[in-house]
Amino acid sequence: MEGSIRRSISGEFDLFGVADLRPVKGQVLSCGLDMRPYDFAISIGISLMYEIVDLVPKRDERWAAISYQTHAYDVVNDRLNGMTSRVASVIQSAGYRAMPISASANADDKGLRGLVSHKMAAHLAGLGWIGKSCLLVTPERGPRMRFATVLTNAPLKSSGRPMDPRCGDCMSCVNACPVSAFTGRNYVDGEPREARFDAYKCDRYLMQMETQGKIRMCGVCLYTCPHGRKKDDTV
Ligand code: SF4
Ligand code: SF4
Repeated sequence: MEGSIRRSISGEFDLFGVADLRPVKGQVLSCGLDMRPYDFAISIGISLMYEIVDLVPKRDERWAAISYQTHAYDVVNDRLNGMTSRVASVIQSAGYRAMPISASANADDKGLRGLVSHKMAAHLAGLGWIGKSCLLVTPERGPRMRFATVLTNAPLKSSGRPMDPRCGDCMSCVNACPVSAFTGRNYVDGEPREARFDAYKCDRYLMQMETQGKIRMCGVCLYTCPHGRKKDDTV
């Protein structure tokens, strides 16, 4: 079945993985969705363009913020949602349940969380580690990726094991965040997000931009990570 799933989105994704959720059912947070029917999560990732991520330091300029919002969020999310929809159709046609999870959509405004964590699904599929920035950091492209997820009960084969954090002594994202939203702690299995990241500080910062008539955009934690940068890049 993995073959027909991959063929349905052939050439459109940069990373693909399958996470076996059975050993971690109680730990995968969902905002209202009953996770019990779903034993596997398919994780699909698209690399962000270098030129787009390199606009982060220019985000006070409206053209840069608009380009970033369009090509780091809107278009990539549409592409991811198209793929998860097609993958879910293939699985359903084979007689199994499939739940596509929307890319970058808050399901819980108070808790500032998606319906299911795409980063956690990618982490469990062995595609990367959870960084001190709470972003999913991949060996190939660092955190310069966006992911979406399909939950299913189709009997798939897990693609890998969760990676241990490789942040080491690096504190780049922690020091660069304009509102000090990170505590600097490494990811530890089972520890709540709040131990590493104050999502409300980040959200307030972005809302403040809106009230100032600016486009809601930051991305400094993503831009500053040494993983996934071009070889000749300096921060
Ligand atoms: S997006 Fe910006 S404000 Fe939010 S956590 Fe990252 S660096 Fe901090
Ligand atoms: S910037 Fe450094 S500490 Fe932050 S996620 Fe990347 S490697 Fe980890």
